[in-house]
Amino acid sequence: MPPRYSKELKKLVVSGFQKRQSRTSPCEASCPAGNRIQAVETLLKAGKPTEAHAVLLTRNPFPGVTGRICTHPCEMHCNRRKYDEGVSIRALERFAADTPFVSRLTPRVDTKKKVAIIGSGPAGMTCAYFLRLMGHAVTVFEAGAVLGGVPRMSVPDFRLPKNIVERETGHILSLGVTAHTNVRVGQDVALSTIMESYDATVVAIGNQKERILDIPGHERLVPAVSFLSSSNLARRSLAGKNVVVLGGGGVAFDCAFTAKRLNAASVSLVFPEAQDAIKAPAEEVEQARMEGISLHASCLAIGVENGVVKAARLEKFTFSDTGELIAKFHEGKELTLTADTVICASGLLPDMDFLEGLSLERTARGHLIVDEFQQTSAHGLFAAGDIVTGPATVASAVGSGRKTAIGVHCWLEGLEQFPEVYFRENEDDTLELSLNSNTVQQEQHVVLFEEIENPSYHEHAPRQHSACARTHFLPFEEFDTGFTTEQAQAEASRCMHCGHCIDCGTCVERCPNYILDRDEDGPFVHYPEECWHCACCRIGCPTGAIAIEFPITMLV
Ligand SMILES: Cc1cc2nc3c(=O)[nH]c(=O)nc-3n(C[C@H](O)[C@H](O)[C@H](O)COP(=O)(O)OP(=O)(O)OC[C@H]3O[C@@H](n4cnc5c(N)ncnc54)[C@H](O)[C@@H]3O)c2cc1C
Ligand code: SF4
Ligand code: SF4
Ligand code: SF4
Repeated sequence: MPPRYSKELKKLVVSGFQKRQSRTSPCEASCPAGNRIQAVETLLKAGKPTEAHAVLLTRNPFPGVTGRICTHPCEMHCNRRKYDEGVSIRALERFAADTPFVSRLTPRVDTKKKVAIIGSGPAGMTCAYFLRLMGHAVTVFEAGAVLGGVPRMSVPDFRLPKNIVERETGHILSLGVTAHTNVRVGQDVALSTIMESYDATVVAIGNQKERILDIPGHERLVPAVSFLSSSNLARRSLAGKNVVVLGGGGVAFDCAFTAKRLNAASVSLVFPEAQDAIKAPAEEVEQARMEGISLHASCLAIGVENGVVKAARLEKFTFSDTGELIAKFHEGKELTLTADTVICASGLLPDMDFLEGLSLERTARGHLIVDEFQQTSAHGLFAAGDIVTGPATVASAVGSGRKTAIGVHCWLEGLEQFPEVYFRENEDDTLELSLNSNTVQQEQHVVLFEEIENPSYHEHAPRQHSACARTHFLPFEEFDTGFTTEQAQAEASRCMHCGHCIDCGTCVERCPNYILDRDEDGPFVHYPEECWHCACCRIGCPTGAIAIEFPITMLV
């Protein structure tokens, strides 16, 4: 069979499964939110950030949030890491998301179906966004005073300013989503009342209960997320206080940075992970060292007494299926730290008392079990986000929220399989979500660096670094100031577009038999029956966009 091309569709705002893209890149395959990274980078390279913003919104209504605080698994898998340095995908997403735009999104015609969503975190609000765009009437019930879940209430301002979350939840509301704050379902309104009044209900309540270590003195421990949420509301000084944070994940580091900014005299982190296995992102560990925060790795707190934290030194540890820590200690070696305030960041658990009457199926750790449409074991009750996955990330909550919206839509409309979801440009210039139930979803082949035979086509170029306003005054202002326009364009140009055709024409030039040609859609096979299967096109392609299946006669 002659070469087959995997092409990015020219019409860049179209979302969904790309019929002509049989191949994809490791970055796109590993983004839990499903961002169309290559399309965004193509547009940023072309100096079109507004269009890049529109493309992001076809999959993810929170690109300003994920563009700042996503743990960026896409970058860990970027092929360019094997060439020089990986592409700064998250900073590019942030740059596009911060570009002002006028939303062209418009909901489909009213379906007369009503959906209730419990919880306004990234999972609940993403689900609301897509259900509304599909034409359903959506009402969100939120226990807190503001919308946005953990990113709005608990993530500190120096990583994620509140106005970014408000901008993105505001856009969702502007599409016609109704939201009621200060309504705790199970307390202010019964779940049964909601389920009776709506055609479908989605539970997206995250993990709210803070796990407190069961050690002597545990009553003096301050729960980490409560500490962060109250510091977000009122910045009470910790001047002169010694603060110890128990935990080594992102939440613990957020507490340590916050304590430092509240002028604590000393801040220490005590955590069981070894030095080389710290759970927080490397840049945060580096930042902590820069700010003089002490890191005590391989240590497990065993008690808090008379203003002193005692911790045992760990040789090794593991967790049981139910999340219990099983540890082996170095005998006789203890760490002692003076502490006025001890913050406990040892994880979050689901709090589903109000669901008890339904006897829902749950995992060993208490999270909800759902089917392929995200429906729980109760008829018409769906679930999205951390309440299903356990504590995860904003990007995974966004992906889960979108999948749940499609699952609810299938259930409401009696569809047996997920439709293709894409956006159509109307004559009045609005963008409308469209659904196509007649497409077969294809597995895409992920193109790894080793499959790109001509990487030297791409010039070596250093990764761009955004300026960071990290000063010794340790303000609450955002750490990272983001890319300039020039930096965004330069960084987007570094993308090698793994697995997608960039219409460079190399394959056409290299074909010794002149069977290839180009038109406005890029290269194509003009004379398929004359292909020699020499693979010159495949070898010359700088993106790995060409697949060749050799005829059986060539293989024997
Ligand atoms: C301090 C902290 C920092 C984090 N930092 C990062 C980070 O840097 N990067 C990252 O990717 N992820 C981070 N995470 C994880 C991320 O925030 C979560 O994975 C994500 O918010 C989960 O989204 P969700 O919508 O499932 O739940 P949540 O964001 O928890 O939202 C659930 C919402 O439901 C509401 N609710 C609960 N019960 C009820 C009820 N009975 N009735 C009505 N409403 C209810 C809650 O008030 C809340 O607003 C962090 C988490 C924490 C705690
Ligand atoms: S959401 Fe996260 S994983 Fe996805 S593109 Fe953005 S930074 Fe990468
Ligand atoms: S080079 Fe571009 S397409 Fe390839 S993995 Fe990196 S960001 Fe993705
Ligand atoms: S060589 Fe260039 S034009 Fe041909 S398939 Fe690869 S990227 Fe596209």
